[in-house]
Amino acid sequence: MAVALLEKGEVCSGCSFGNACLITPSHAVPLPAPGVIRQALKWMLKEDSPLLIRARPDFRLAAWLLQFAGYCRTEPMLRGIPVLRDLCRASLTLFEEVARAEDLQFHYERRGILYVSSTDAGFEKTKHSAELLARHGFESRALTGPETHALEPAVLETVRGALYYPEDAHGDSYLFVTGLARILPKLGVAVHTGVSVSGLRAESPGKVTVATSRGEFAGRHAVIASGSWSTQLTRQLGIRIPIQPAKGYSVTMARPEGGPKIPVGHNERKMVVTPIGDRLRFAGTLEFAGMDLRMNETRAEAAVRSGREILHPLREPRNLERWCGLRPCTPDGIPIVDRLPGHPHVLLASGHAMLGYTLGPVTGKLVSEMIAGTPPSLPLEPLRLTRFR
Ligand SMILES: Cc1cc2nc3c(=O)[nH]c(=O)nc-3n(C[C@H](O)[C@H](O)[C@H](O)COP(=O)(O)OP(=O)(O)OC[C@H]3O[C@@H](n4cnc5c(N)ncnc54)[C@H](O)[C@@H]3O)c2cc1C
Repeated sequence: MAVALLEKGEVCSGCSFGNACLITPSHAVPLPAPGVIRQALKWMLKEDSPLLIRARPDFRLAAWLLQFAGYCRTEPMLRGIPVLRDLCRASLTLFEEVARAEDLQFHYERRGILYVSSTDAGFEKTKHSAELLARHGFESRALTGPETHALEPAVLETVRGALYYPEDAHGDSYLFVTGLARILPKLGVAVHTGVSVSGLRAESPGKVTVATSRGEFAGRHAVIASGSWSTQLTRQLGIRIPIQPAKGYSVTMARPEGGPKIPVGHNERKMVVTPIGDRLRFAGTLEFAGMDLRMNETRAEAAVRSGREILHPLREPRNLERWCGLRPCTPDGIPIVDRLPGHPHVLLASGHAMLGYTLGPVTGKLVSEMIAGTPPSLPLEPLRLTRFR
């Protein structure tokens, strides 16, 4: 089957460009969880807070936030954990297969992740999360400050403690995506960059026409996998989808001597420091402010400052690279992988929020199974768009 990939910018110019590069089943608790709204309201006026909702007259954001608030309860959260767990684990297996089988260097490593707490209250909270995840089959180890330092000497021995999840992996998302794009033509996929999709028409069963800045492309199926921009494309077919962009920041530097070898998350600040080959990346913060890709130095700096709070002082080189990207978020924290209602030949694969890199491979697999008509390797029901209606 011939496939064409249409990308308005360069390959990997969206949210996968500068993310935290974690392949992370331990992130299986959906974003909407009990207490999140209360926490967001507390942080509302703090410019450098981990979660910021910028109040503005936006009907769609308001409606989305109301829906999101409805999911911030125990029952939907518990329903979401096994869904994300199974997707993440299936994807991790695919990452391992690709890393073994393909000539693709993306600094893939399986060293787990440390979630470090700088306060006793924060540490107690992570222990509760660990208990919750343990009930869903996740292994973790609670470590004291000195034990954390012994495992990862870059972390200060004075931290209050950490949870270590050995299952997680990490690897350069940019090298992974661009590496795959180089392999694709050998598999019969034509990669078109600088081609912006402006319209979609599902004309008859089995004929979908995609209008672009470089003319029309026709095919049997179209897959909308354009992250936070997916809403603009589904609207061409008269379908509104509940996806809101959540901006996050990263700051990348040459890897300093003595920097961490294991990814380290700061539990209270909701940020992470990831070693990626010869670089070190500080990433985090979540901001609901619409399709706004303007750089806010205060928020970018907050990611680095939070990292410094838990790490031994790093000799930081000056060549810092600042970046921000838009995570496509659904109100229940679970992605949408489904056919569009009334347009069975147009598929949507989006809404992966904080897990879009982790879940990329399994999403591709599920989409290919849907198009090929083979049995799905995981249940599709929790990923249906209709769950929001
Ligand atoms: C700070 C930060 C840290 C993160 N850390 C992690 C992490 O450690 N692990 C993890 O799993 N996830 C992480 N994420 C989330 C992850 O990066 C996203 O979920 C993921 O990149 C979304 O992928 P996507 O392909 O859906 O969207 P994108 O990567 O945004 O790609 C969408 C693409 O569609 C293109 N496009 C848009 N409109 C059109 C059009 N009209 N025509 C043609 N092309 C179009 C865009 O140019 C873009 O390249 C993080 C996100 C942020 C912001």
